[in-house]
Amino acid sequence: MRDVSRAAAPWTVPFLNLDEQHAELKPDVLAAVSDLIDSGSFTNGPQVSEFEAEWARYCGAAYAVGVASGLDALRLGLVAAGIEPGDEVIVPAMTFVATLEAVIQAGGVPILVDISEADYGLDATAADAAIGLRTRFLLPVHLYGQMADMTALTTLADECGLGIIEDACQAHGARRAGFTAGRAGSIAAAFSFYPAKNLGAMGDAGALVTDDPELAQVVRALREHGQIEKYEHLLEGYTARLDTIQALVLLLKLPMLDRWNEQRRAAAQFYLDNLQDTDLTLPRVPATSEPVWHLFVVRTPARELLADFLRARGIATGRHYPAPVHLAPAYGHLGRGPGAFPVAEELARESLSLPLFPGITEEELVVVVEAVRDFCAGG
Ligand SMILES: *Cc1c(COP(=O)(O)O)cnc(C)c1O
Repeated sequence: MRDVSRAAAPWTVPFLNLDEQHAELKPDVLAAVSDLIDSGSFTNGPQVSEFEAEWARYCGAAYAVGVASGLDALRLGLVAAGIEPGDEVIVPAMTFVATLEAVIQAGGVPILVDISEADYGLDATAADAAIGLRTRFLLPVHLYGQMADMTALTTLADECGLGIIEDACQAHGARRAGFTAGRAGSIAAAFSFYPAKNLGAMGDAGALVTDDPELAQVVRALREHGQIEKYEHLLEGYTARLDTIQALVLLLKLPMLDRWNEQRRAAAQFYLDNLQDTDLTLPRVPATSEPVWHLFVVRTPARELLADFLRARGIATGRHYPAPVHLAPAYGHLGRGPGAFPVAEELARESLSLPLFPGITEEELVVVVEAVRDFCAGG
C-alpha cells in the first residue's frame, strides 16, 4: 500500500491528505526524535508508558498496553483472555482481514456472521444463531467509525456466558448508547494507530485497553518474548512492542484527536445534508450513536460508474472493502461461498468511500457534492 499522504498530489480532492497535520507537527516530532536518538531508548522508552497512561485515560480504561499494531492488540488480547485451540470466536463478515487473522493466529476458529443493515456492525440476531458449544467470544467491529449495537451484543454475551473482545481499530473516540469505543462491556479492546486511522502513528502501532490488571500484565509480557522481568520468560511470547518513536508521535497527536474527530463530523454532516435527496444510500446513524467517521461510505448499484465519474473530475474514492472476508482467497478454507452473508456481500458490491479527513476544506466538499449530484442527475 502506498504512503497515504503521498497519494494526495495528483488529485483535485484526495481521498486522504494528512500533509497539513504532519507539517504542523514536524518540528515537535523532529525535536523529540532528536532527544530519543541521544537517549537511545528505542524500545521501552518513557514515552511508551506515558502514552499508555494517556490512552487509557482517553478511553476511560484502567490500562492501555502499547503494541506494534492493531493486529497484535487483537491477537495478544485473545491469547491473554485465555483462548484455547479450537475455541470459536464470532466475527462479522465485513471487516478488515486483521480481525480474522487475529482469531486464527491466536488458535481460535472464526465463525463468520452477517452484519446489520442499521450500523454495518455485527448483527446480534445472526450472532445469537451462530453460538454453539465451543463459542467463547464475540468480536464486534466498530466499522467505519460507528459502534456496533453493544446494548444488544452485551446482553447476548451475558446470556450465553461469552466474553467480548472489541475491534475498535476504526473507532477512536466513538460513542453509542452510553458506551465508548474500547469500553463497551468488553474484556479488552484493540486499537490500531496505522497512519490512516483517526489517531495514526508515523508507522505501525496499536494498543490494547482493559480494566483487568492481570490481562494487561499478560499482554505486557506477551509483547516482549513472554518475559515478566528481563530473561524471565513466563510465557511463549512475541516481538510486538510499541516503538518509542511511535509512542512519541502518538503523544504529540493525541491532544488533537477530539478536534480532528469534530472536523470529520462536520465533513460527514455536510455530505449528509447535501446528498440526502439523491438516490444514493447514505450511512445510517442510530439515534444514540456518535460515530467518528473513519470513513464516509455511500452505496449505489452503480458504484463503479460513480467511482469512474468522480475520478474523471479528480476526486479520489475508496472501497472498504471490495470483498467481504469470506470471499478473500486466503479464507476459502472456511468454506463459506457467495451468498453466505448477503448484507456484507451487497455492501462490498455497492459501497464507495468519499474523501473525508480532518482538514478537508469546504471547497473540497463542495466539489465532491456537486460531482456526486451531477452523476445522480444523469452525468
Ligand atoms: C486497521 C484495522 C485493524 C488492524 O490494523 P493494523 O494494520 O494491524 O494496525 C484491525 N481491524 C480493523 C477493523 C481495522 O480497520
